[in-house]
Amino acid sequence: MIPFPLKFENRVKNDLFLGEELLTALNTETPTSVRLNPHKTKPNLPFQKEIDWCQNGYYLTERPSFTLDPLFHAGTYYPQEAGSMVLDSILRQLDLPEQPKILDLCAAPGGKSTLIASFLDNKGMLVSNEVINSRAKILRENLSKWGHTNVVVTNNDPEHFEKIPNFFDTIVVDAPCSGEGMFRKDPDARTEWTEDNVQLCAARQKRIVMDVWDSLKAGGYLIYSTCTFNEDENENNVEWLLNNLEAEIVSVELKEPIQKDRIQKGFYCIPGKTATEGFYIAVFQKIGKIPSFTSKFAYN
Ligand code: SAM
Repeated sequence: MIPFPLKFENRVKNDLFLGEELLTALNTETPTSVRLNPHKTKPNLPFQKEIDWCQNGYYLTERPSFTLDPLFHAGTYYPQEAGSMVLDSILRQLDLPEQPKILDLCAAPGGKSTLIASFLDNKGMLVSNEVINSRAKILRENLSKWGHTNVVVTNNDPEHFEKIPNFFDTIVVDAPCSGEGMFRKDPDARTEWTEDNVQLCAARQKRIVMDVWDSLKAGGYLIYSTCTFNEDENENNVEWLLNNLEAEIVSVELKEPIQKDRIQKGFYCIPGKTATEGFYIAVFQKIGKIPSFTSKFAYN
């Protein structure tokens, strides 16, 4: 087993919110879970139990070889870490129009986008975007397997979306992060972690949200998530965004063992407490007047 980065280990040991049990949990086996495609045949998988916070989400008793299973390639299910499936419960609590327009900004390989596509169930539109071209191709493949016609895959930088102001009802920013929550599933994440990278990620996350903020309608929701445990990329970014945007936190209900964050604004899935990898999520609502047509888009 690759050891934890020392600075990460010491930080967690001194963090009463996380506790040393997290380190123990990160050295145990990772739970396997899938989300079924409600429009396709039910696959024959070793189901264990339903996931409380996601329709069609299931834990499996073991990890089959998904890539050898034709029903995986047919898009009948998507192997997805259970913490990420909290998004389903959140989307179902939002006050959305009948035909919502949703942007999944950092979407590859497509876990959240396939979830959103099932949530929309062919209503409205999903723009599923990925900035890295090679990853956008994988995203496109996964979404075509999933099989909805109201989905557009794009390959844009977040700042390109400022050309469509006041457009989306919801934007999901599943931000690139330092990946502390993946230390169990992906041992390489342990070797790649540095304190400097945490700071780089935190700055990039703020920039990404600021870049797309204009394309969110007034009254629309921005769902921010990471798969990491540190305050800089989570709570501190949430506070910074609240101080720099016309936004407020939306109070959603998620049941124990999912827990409120250190500032009671977002939520964590913490391995050892939840049968998940590490996941953080917070929901903002844009306040303020619907902007008048003074954007670059209107005059181009
Ligand atoms: N949402 C995906 C899912 O559920 O399958 C996982 C997304 S992963 C956490 C973050 C994504 O952000 C990666 O696909 C990565 O390529 C992309 N990314 C990296 N740098 C970015 C940037 N500067 N702006 C936007 N996205 C970026």
